[in-house]
Amino acid sequence: MGCIFCDIVAKKKPARIVYEDEEILAFRDLNPQAPIHILIIPKKHVSGVTGLRDEDRRLVGLIHQAAVRIARAESVYQCGFRLVVNSGPDAGQAIDHLHFHFLAGRRLSWPPG
Ligand code: AMP
Ligand code: ZN
Repeated sequence: MGCIFCDIVAKKKPARIVYEDEEILAFRDLNPQAPIHILIIPKKHVSGVTGLRDEDRRLVGLIHQAAVRIARAESVYQCGFRLVVNSGPDAGQAIDHLHFHFLAGRRLSWPPG
């Protein structure tokens, strides 16, 4: 079965990429829920947080480091941002390729809906 995010990694599908290195890709969400809404993903296909294996531990750290770089690049390092992972149907996970939502640019309410 195809994976949209693997297609974006392979550049078979377009995306507004904001950050890329050997292992990580970040691009703007098609349906933004905040003025700044970016998805940060490992290039390697991992189905979600529940699909992480021991050898993927480093990727989670790299994703967080990418988030901090993005916060600086988007000028929200000081005012703040939120990183969110949806896992499973109750959380509304729609795409089975691990992705961290980077949300910023407005006051984000808590608790989330
Ligand atoms: P989730 O509901 O946590 O699985 O999030 C999936 C996210 O992917 C949603 O916010 C969608 O708007 C976003 N999305 C789906 N397809 C694309 C795409 N081709 N490019 C960018 N974002 C996408
Ligand atoms: Zn994938």
